[in-house]
Amino acid sequence: MSTTESRYFDVGTETMSADAISAMQLEKLPRQLRYMQKNAPFHARKLAEVGADPRDIRSFDDLAKLPFTEKSELRQSQAKHPPLGDHAAASLRNVVRVHASSGTTGTPSFVGLTRFDKRRWVECIARSYWSQGLRPDSVFAMGMSIGFFVGGLPVAAAVEEIGATLLPIGTGASDRLIDSIRAMGATALATTPSYATYLAEIARDQSGVDVAELGIRNVMVGAEPGGGIPEVRNRIEALWGARCTEAIGNADVITIHSAECEAGDGCHFMVPDYLIMEIIDPETGCVLPLDSPQVEGELVFTHLDRQCCPLLRFRTRDRVVVNTTPCACGRTGPRLRCIGRSDDMLIVRGVNVWPSAVKDVVMGFRPQVSGELLISLPDPGPKVDPPVAIKVELGDGEPDSGLAGRIEQALRAKLIFSAKVELVSRGVLPRTEMKARLIEYS
Ligand SMILES: [Zn+2]
Repeated sequence: MSTTESRYFDVGTETMSADAISAMQLEKLPRQLRYMQKNAPFHARKLAEVGADPRDIRSFDDLAKLPFTEKSELRQSQAKHPPLGDHAAASLRNVVRVHASSGTTGTPSFVGLTRFDKRRWVECIARSYWSQGLRPDSVFAMGMSIGFFVGGLPVAAAVEEIGATLLPIGTGASDRLIDSIRAMGATALATTPSYATYLAEIARDQSGVDVAELGIRNVMVGAEPGGGIPEVRNRIEALWGARCTEAIGNADVITIHSAECEAGDGCHFMVPDYLIMEIIDPETGCVLPLDSPQVEGELVFTHLDRQCCPLLRFRTRDRVVVNTTPCACGRTGPRLRCIGRSDDMLIVRGVNVWPSAVKDVVMGFRPQVSGELLISLPDPGPKVDPPVAIKVELGDGEPDSGLAGRIEQALRAKLIFSAKVELVSRGVLPRTEMKARLIEYS
């Protein structure tokens, strides 16, 4: 455990050299794979399909020959072998908690944790909040759903592990959240980027409260890509008069695997003792070497220390840009910026278009627009015929007659696709407390 003065929560792991990390991971990997083979029929089958023996997996090249695990396989595993699936390598008797994610398909996906798993999550997640600036003297307002959500109880436990004061408020009652922040003198707020914005607007419009006066110094966002969008982050920082930092995680893997430091330039991969991270070309499945400063690809994880629901080469579908240049903070983990979910990417006449990038361009037109938008598609993508219909909500400023055309021009110039922008009145587009939806199917 670190002291208030320390820059790191776990200096040994956070500043470990690349060679030491490789050695540690290659020592743990065969042990984890043997455990999975022995205790989870799902993994035993997958290893048998390629004739792999965990004892022979001695290098990252060996790992790269093993099959990926897809989210759809986990869903099938769970449907066939309820409640957790036969990829779960521990029995319910040894599971102390179950989390669930609703996922994009609507069917909840369950994730079990043993006592050991729960402990490992807490240690790992605590590093990320420390890195984002949480300290024992912080008062932490939890503006995320508690319940089944992996961002709930594990985050609460990590905050307590640091020794900060936890306010487990949750979502659903914005006025209570604001009142509690004020009453308890909260200094940090954890929430989604869309809720951070929503909360500030609701407080202003319904109660005349300027959230910048509440004394929050750190807004810590995650669970959706917005925190990495410069315009979204600038807006959150302006609204709250606070620093905004981002963390990235995955419900099936761990609540948070990467988080920003004080440099605020991407999220350091924080848990090399818990996960092996691979970046792959999503088309070919080939592992991309991290030998240039900016590598773009899909995040793939393999557990090293998981008892209940360990995963082998799990394709997260998160598209990231990895920055491998050294960081002033001294942490050695490469820095990730999530640019979106592979599932969300649109292809317009051969050009990749990320909804988060569209949002960034549209936010540049504030205050004439509110920043809310909805991309309307006739069918699920990824291929979309131009022009792409986008509803853009008007803001406080007086719109001029050429606004829609200027947004279309900016999208064409910056993202190289043609859009048909329809301006709609302020407040018309749905506000969500949790994940912001940027796409609708008409
Ligand atoms: Zn750093």
